[in-house]
Amino acid sequence: MLDPFGREAKRIVRELGGIEALLKRIARYVEMENALKRVMLLDQENIPEDILEMSDHDDILTFYALLGALAFSPYGIEMELVRRSNAKIYRERIKEMIKKSGSVSGLTVPLEPTKSTEIPERDRTILEKSLHGEISAKDREKYRLKYHIKLSSFLRLWEGSLKEVYIRKGYAYLTEEQALRLWEKAFERNLERSVNLLYEIRDELPEYYSKLYEKLSELARERFKERLGRFSGEAQPLRFELFPPCVKEALKGVPSGLRNYAITVLLTSFLSYARICPNPSRRDVRIKDCLSDLSVIEREILPVIIEAGNRCKPPLFEDQPHEIKNIWYHLGFGLTDKPTLEDSGNSTWYFPPNCDKIRANAPQLCKPDRHCRAIKNPLTYYLRRLYLENRAKGSQKEGSEGGGENG
Ligand code: SF4
Repeated sequence: MLDPFGREAKRIVRELGGIEALLKRIARYVEMENALKRVMLLDQENIPEDILEMSDHDDILTFYALLGALAFSPYGIEMELVRRSNAKIYRERIKEMIKKSGSVSGLTVPLEPTKSTEIPERDRTILEKSLHGEISAKDREKYRLKYHIKLSSFLRLWEGSLKEVYIRKGYAYLTEEQALRLWEKAFERNLERSVNLLYEIRDELPEYYSKLYEKLSELARERFKERLGRFSGEAQPLRFELFPPCVKEALKGVPSGLRNYAITVLLTSFLSYARICPNPSRRDVRIKDCLSDLSVIEREILPVIIEAGNRCKPPLFEDQPHEIKNIWYHLGFGLTDKPTLEDSGNSTWYFPPNCDKIRANAPQLCKPDRHCRAIKNPLTYYLRRLYLENRAKGSQKEGSEGGGENG
């Protein structure tokens, strides 16, 4: 299999009854060790033959097993490990296919092979350095603009500088390495999209996946031990600048019709999970499972909620002083204004509402930015921003130490 999100992969998933049926089948038939083998090769120079030459069917089953496990912790070190090691596998297969047949098809990125007549001779001479006699024929392959893609599709994925790319008549012309970088971006987006979808149904997934997640987590902790604590799965002080637009709107204070939803429902759930348990592996988690006293709530969460309430017009807690009990209720302590840790669990600790609920109940709060495209819940927005920031720091560090994104 060249691309687990490409045409052929989609056909196999359909044939196996769709994604939910596929996940159930995996839980019955796929040995966890076989799925985990896929993430143990990140630091190996060569990918083992049995992985590279796996049948399409086995490839889909073992890859989707890992996606099911990631549903328990999107945007953590586990996702980083799965993304990097599997991109390495598919990249290698794509390169091998190009070597054998000179082109590649069926990828999620609509790349077309470039004919020599498509680029003016003068441009080609400069870009492909064809008159540079000091460059060997093998190295010159690196500069060949082998693929092109419609500019609109290209711009949706490319994050590098446009100066690096030859653009002509509505197409971007790419070297093999640039084409692979573009494919990798698409792979990453599709991986994220799938994990976000599975995150929604994680409570319904067979126990197999939570167990696989635990094993995956052990491997990820070992591989990224120097980066632990910086990654989003860990509780850490709130980073307001990375909050989603709807939460920033709620923090500014809102008019009377929106106050209860913005402050009590959205802000209370978002701030508490984001600060205390950003990546809960199950929905029925309680605050007392994550904290040993209430000081974090009293010092870092409640003051932010109360200040946002005071910024509402009219101020929420002046107008409705009993609403503070409702805040504790939504935190899972029952209807009280003097809770103890032991009260945690007396009511449900409300999880942040999904984006579609926010749009239905308080459309004024939803002002999506580019990060909203990938997510379905404000908490995953925040986890994603933390993940991307930490990943960028990690890549810089590895880059300066001589490592690399695919290394
Ligand atoms: S899309 Fe979701 S996260 Fe983004 S602003 Fe709207 S509700 Fe918030």
